[in-house]
Amino acid sequence: MHIVLAGGGVDSTVVIAQCVKAGIKPVLLFCDYGQRSAYQERLAVSRLARHYGLRHEVVRSYFPSHDDHIMFDPDAAYVNHTIAPEVANSMGSRAWIIPYRNLFLLSVAAMVAGVKGTEEVWVGFDAANAGSTADCRQDVVDYFQQAVTLAADGTPPFTIRSPLTNVAKSTIYRRGVRLDVPFELTWSCYNNFSKRCGVCTACAARKYLSAKVGLDDPIQYLSEVELESRLTKEAYADYVRCR
Ligand SMILES: [Zn+2]
Repeated sequence: MHIVLAGGGVDSTVVIAQCVKAGIKPVLLFCDYGQRSAYQERLAVSRLARHYGLRHEVVRSYFPSHDDHIMFDPDAAYVNHTIAPEVANSMGSRAWIIPYRNLFLLSVAAMVAGVKGTEEVWVGFDAANAGSTADCRQDVVDYFQQAVTLAADGTPPFTIRSPLTNVAKSTIYRRGVRLDVPFELTWSCYNNFSKRCGVCTACAARKYLSAKVGLDDPIQYLSEVELESRLTKEAYADYVRCR
């Protein structure tokens, strides 16, 4: 059995597509850790599972301090137009970074893998994220692999596969196009509206990368009128100031 840690975004979806192409039928594991966009991400994972004919499972955890971080605050709206979109995912504002998030997700996947007797856990950590969130880096993944192997205590071992660790974002998008990834089913936005906001770091990066690789991204973004009504007053003012 194989698991893909799936977040509904392009990176993990490219990993799913790679697995499927290699003849692997992984279980998609989604973790709802209270992130603001959890509902849309989970929906995206369930649609991707249906698209590829795979099973998906959801792990839920509860973070009690929602006010401590913008990515957990359901009432916040995250806007980031203050940086160039080409560096949005690697050098921009660190407001969206949740410390040790990827280590936490790896731990969740390890526990599920241990219970199910999984052979491999696949993750979609990539080079751009590794530049801003150290727990995406290959050396950290390698140390984590050592830690779970040490801690196995009789539990069958599993291997962590991180095929995008040293792959640039634009290459991941091109790979997605080649693998016929259903981009329209993925969710990249950090906000939790019915449509992608188009103005957060993730949306800015996605627009930039789609244009760069010539992807006719079929994503529908919020209109100006919808943005004004959905964003908080402060976030909308920030958006207007920076556009
Ligand atoms: Zn967005």
